[in-house]
Amino acid sequence: MTEPSEYDRQREARSEPLAYTRTHKPHVRELVGLLLVGVTLACITAGLHYRLPAPMAVTRPAAPRPAAPASAAWYESFFGHKLDAQRAQAYEPAQPLDEVLPYEGPLSAYFSEANAMLTIQHLAEDIGYRVVGTQAHIDAEQWLLDILRRFEGVHATGPDYQTHVEIFYQQGDGAHRFDILGHPVWKRYYGMSNVIVRISDGTNASRTDSLLLNAHLDSTLPSPGAADDGAGVAIMLEVLRVLTMPGAPRVRHGVLLLFNNGEESLQDASHLYMTQHAPTKDTVRAVVNLEACGVSGPTLLFQATDARLIEAYARVPHPFGTVLASDVFSSGVIMSDTDFRQFVEYGHGLPGLDMAIVGSSYLYHTRRDIPAYMERGVVQHFGENVLSLVESLALDPASPLPAIRPWPYSFKPILPVYFSVFGQWFVHIPAKLFKNMITALAVALNFFLSAINSSERRVAFMSTSMLSSIALVLSYVAAMAAANAVAAALRVLGTPLAWFGHEAYAALLFGPPVLAALIGVQLALHHCVEATRRPYLEYTAFTGAAVIYTLGMLLMNYFRLGSAYMMMLAMLAFFVPVVVNDLGLKGLGRIATDAFAPDQRVHYATYLLGIVPMMTLGYEGLIAFLDLIVPLMGRMGTDVPVDHVIASLVAVLVTLNSGVLIPLCHRYGLRSMRSSIGALLALSMAMLAFFALPAVPTFDDRHPRRLLVHHVENVTSGEWHVAYTTLDSAARDVALDARLRDVLLQGEANSTLSWDHAPQVGPDMDVLFPLTHFLKPTRLTLPPSTERAAAARDSARWRDVRLSCEELSAANGTREVRMRLAHPGLAWSTLSFDANVLSWDFPATPPTGLQRHHLKDVSRLGHDVFEVRLTMRVPSLPSAALADTLA
Ligand SMILES: [Zn+2]
Repeated sequence: MTEPSEYDRQREARSEPLAYTRTHKPHVRELVGLLLVGVTLACITAGLHYRLPAPMAVTRPAAPRPAAPASAAWYESFFGHKLDAQRAQAYEPAQPLDEVLPYEGPLSAYFSEANAMLTIQHLAEDIGYRVVGTQAHIDAEQWLLDILRRFEGVHATGPDYQTHVEIFYQQGDGAHRFDILGHPVWKRYYGMSNVIVRISDGTNASRTDSLLLNAHLDSTLPSPGAADDGAGVAIMLEVLRVLTMPGAPRVRHGVLLLFNNGEESLQDASHLYMTQHAPTKDTVRAVVNLEACGVSGPTLLFQATDARLIEAYARVPHPFGTVLASDVFSSGVIMSDTDFRQFVEYGHGLPGLDMAIVGSSYLYHTRRDIPAYMERGVVQHFGENVLSLVESLALDPASPLPAIRPWPYSFKPILPVYFSVFGQWFVHIPAKLFKNMITALAVALNFFLSAINSSERRVAFMSTSMLSSIALVLSYVAAMAAANAVAAALRVLGTPLAWFGHEAYAALLFGPPVLAALIGVQLALHHCVEATRRPYLEYTAFTGAAVIYTLGMLLMNYFRLGSAYMMMLAMLAFFVPVVVNDLGLKGLGRIATDAFAPDQRVHYATYLLGIVPMMTLGYEGLIAFLDLIVPLMGRMGTDVPVDHVIASLVAVLVTLNSGVLIPLCHRYGLRSMRSSIGALLALSMAMLAFFALPAVPTFDDRHPRRLLVHHVENVTSGEWHVAYTTLDSAARDVALDARLRDVLLQGEANSTLSWDHAPQVGPDMDVLFPLTHFLKPTRLTLPPSTERAAAARDSARWRDVRLSCEELSAANGTREVRMRLAHPGLAWSTLSFDANVLSWDFPATPPTGLQRHHLKDVSRLGHDVFEVRLTMRVPSLPSAALADTLA
């Protein structure tokens, strides 16, 4: 009798599935191999993602091209604040040289971060806080106009063309409605201003279709605005310098540089431009908005609203952006906004690109938004991208600019799917092609699954695969539950936001419980399936996931969400390895003839393939998302349960990117699942204990806590209040309370403060509307002091602040009045009153019914009158009483 062959033995084992012997797998060697590949890929991914271009040195006035990457000496002197006048001359237009260096292009090769830094430093440090209504706000504008005037006129840039630079100064009044998370703010502005530069080749043709670049010169109250938006201003100055230097290419389509001087006051200046700048506003075909809410890392394209602009962006040297950001931003969940909104709204769907520096946004809108905290290379990265866009859209003869048309709100275009890879490559797929791709993928998956089903009848492949699909859906639920349990524990322990100190902490804290939950679901699945089919769970983990993500991508595409591409990538991450496994590594023929034992169905190399998308695209997505979202959680207001928000986001991201982890569970069987869960739970506890320790500070120098203090003098009652709150939902800081008390009492030993923890209804809080809806301030009534008493007696101080209410007409229970507030010495005033307003002179109708109104004004220094005309319903009173109320 001959020995049965290996093949026969395995067939025998298959016919008696319980009798097959488990194949020994070198656990440790396999896992170490995967780990090494994974970690290597992750390191390469992070390295490429965060890599910034080397900053260029300061230009000599006449030098057409920045000499070289900035030297260490430049950097040192920059942070040593040793800038001299000679360097500041960088903004002189370049004179023709004796030896003219030929322009070689591309345009982006001429951007100098060192020049930009000079501007940023001047704005943030020499001028400082540029808040609308202050002298510094006007000083900045004067300085800018002075620089720009040096470029005004005609530049002999090319042999047969010239470059014309025109300067427009706009100042005006206006009114608009601005919504903050569903709360309308009615605004009137006075003396708002813009400086506009038009660069063209001097022909009318080149002025017909323009590209608008926008940045704001002003800064917000708590910030000197180095990155926000000194960076944008500095980049636009570089655009002007580069386009006017000898040899620069012809400007075929106008480039409009809008230096707007009122963004932080809620986008008044861009509103003024878009509604009133007759000479240029109607020539704008597309807008590129330059913003910053951070100080480090690559510049993010976070809104893009036209396919041709996305094509232009695809050619920038350092692309970083995804349609996901556009989807998230347009959903309005993030309380943050840019001038882009005004361009879209008042440009009737004007298309554009919205870009911002976003890394380390912990420092956004704080006193620490200064040059010293800006990462080297950030502005170079941003500037090169902007110059590249200018080249594609305004200089290139094949520019799509003249053909670009606005998209009114009612008719949203279907945008291409786009995403960047490693900050190096940009993938953009036209919407139609994307739809065809996912349809083809769905069909391919269908064919593949039926083929496998017919060759693997005896294991009930389809139903096993479906169980794996259901388990994946349950994994999302379990992952959310586990992460949220840790979030709840943090709150119980009194240490919410313990993960705030670094973008990666959230992953360390919430990652282990999520992984434990994922394995737990597979453990349960293992017990749900009869023993003979268990070995196949390893294989169906791939096919089950491919099915779920195919459904996901079809569904998201149906709802026109470009982010469907993530589902497609997730689908491919499972589908491609399994196809390679079956067609290449194992062979369909051998699968059909059951040539190997049930637990030999997936080749080890399939895992090495499966880990690639996970640790590259997936890992880059994870770090980019956390970089963006974690710092944001420190300024969400006091009511948002940010621990649960972050926990849920980490749960979804980790599950989406869990990749080969799930099939691995079944590869090594029950015991390894149990021990992994045990280890992960222990790690979760250790992490929770570690982050809950007082030794891990939630806030520090580079991750400051945001404290809002509101100092009120009630000139009627003579009382003084201080209301304060933090902008986050972390635990109340008793040390902070004590320090505030010390500062406010200033050693008045026997005085006490009265505390009020629900002052929202107090009339002096009206000036903070609508912030009061997101914050829980505490109000202190300050005790009388000699100083305050003296101030209260000095009635002359506010003598010129006057509110008058003049009746214009009265009829049928209505009155038309003009309210006039003269407010010298006050910058941003609010008129707050209860009334049933029927109509007013704001550009949109008032909310109906008797209610509290908050009308706001923002004025340039020296503009001191805020006027509103309105008609309101008055209660029908006896005429004597009416006469009283009128008085
Ligand atoms: Zn800004």
